[in-house]
Amino acid sequence: MNYDLTAEQLSIKANFEKFCKKEIEPRAHLLDTASSEEVNSEIKVNIKMLADLGYLGMGHEEKYGGSNLDLFSQTVAGEEVAKACASSYLSAGASCGLFGVPLKLFGTDEQKAKYLPGIIKGEIIGCFGLTEPEAGSDAASMKTTAVKKGDKWILNGTKTFITNATIADVALVFAYNDREKGPGAGVTCFLIDKGTKGFSVSKPFDKMGFRGSPTAELILEDCEVPESAVLGQTGWGFIQAMQTLEYGRIGMATVCLGIAAKCLEHANKYSKERKTFGKPINRNQMISFKLADMMIMSDISRLLIYQACWAKETNNPESAILASVAKVWASESATQISSWAVQVHGGYGYIKEYAVERLYRDARLGEIGEGASEIQRILIAKDLIRKYGK
Ligand SMILES: Cc1cc2nc3c(=O)[nH]c(=O)nc-3n(C[C@H](O)[C@H](O)[C@H](O)COP(=O)(O)OP(=O)(O)OC[C@H]3O[C@@H](n4cnc5c(N)ncnc54)[C@H](O)[C@@H]3O)c2cc1C
Repeated sequence: MNYDLTAEQLSIKANFEKFCKKEIEPRAHLLDTASSEEVNSEIKVNIKMLADLGYLGMGHEEKYGGSNLDLFSQTVAGEEVAKACASSYLSAGASCGLFGVPLKLFGTDEQKAKYLPGIIKGEIIGCFGLTEPEAGSDAASMKTTAVKKGDKWILNGTKTFITNATIADVALVFAYNDREKGPGAGVTCFLIDKGTKGFSVSKPFDKMGFRGSPTAELILEDCEVPESAVLGQTGWGFIQAMQTLEYGRIGMATVCLGIAAKCLEHANKYSKERKTFGKPINRNQMISFKLADMMIMSDISRLLIYQACWAKETNNPESAILASVAKVWASESATQISSWAVQVHGGYGYIKEYAVERLYRDARLGEIGEGASEIQRILIAKDLIRKYGK
């Protein structure tokens, strides 16, 4: 087994590290502390910069302006983006990934031609609307409906916690068109453009972390869309959503890895400079062992994420479970690692000028978004019982 990155992946890593350190990281504090209006404009600047660097097109076909790179290369680049600014990672990922991936996998040629070139250039921003006020983990209990009237669909319902909602030009929205058929055949996904009659967006939520990435509700009130707004095929929406979330879990694991790696960087730097009782604090075993554990945990996250990417790329039947495994470990590790990083910084770790304060708040989303830890464990346990429990 070879753990080396290829020459191309090494060059991607170096390019992204250099660019993100210079252009993205210095804006992370600004995004974290900006007003919601400023966030809407400033995050678009970061999305555009990342698009110009080729980040938003890495997973998309060349004919739409992408570079069609493998998931592993995207993850190598993604870790560098996340280290620089987790909010930028989340918003860029919601557009090219949560919106772009289902479009790539299930969209018609016309739909792809309409949206993908703009998504890849960072000129169109997309979002993914699955969660509802009363349907998160249990997404199949969604209440949003789509009713066919002549050659139009009429949608009603509310989607909540939607990343990019306030800045999106287009949204993917999942709705029951036939509740009797159940989620497997009765949910359809629709592409809804900003400005469509009956489609509006709430004020953004005031969040604990990822404050540079706007989150809001999508509201559908007799929202009328043509048949051409159906993503791929009627009735396939829930399956499309679940397949998208498999990528989303690797994405959420990667942002957690970036947060953890950045925390380790800050904790190493601070603990060698900060002196107490006449010596740097990293010469105390209790601090140096924290640093060691931070490294062990983030290295395991990286290996599990790479394994999940490999499984997905090779169509391994274990790929969904391996994505869940990576997500649980990377997110829970990031919570622990960021907490230790604050601890290593002492009182300064509690002050906003120090990046670990933001990283600690950002880390907390990992265990909730893209399927909470409890849900991942249910999926992993079910799989174990299927294999070994009978
Ligand atoms: C910042 C942010 C961005 C987001 N972006 C998006 C987005 O772009 N698009 C989108 O569609 N959604 C998005 N979400 C929604 C996110 O995916 C959901 O919040 C998540 O799936 C959890 O759903 P919930 O909040 O309704 O929690 P609930 O489902 O109500 O769960 C509450 C708690 O109960 C636990 N729980 C639930 N069921 C069980 C069970 N059977 N056994 C044990 N424990 C259980 C959960 O794990 C959780 O800990 C975002 C959320 C946030 C906070």
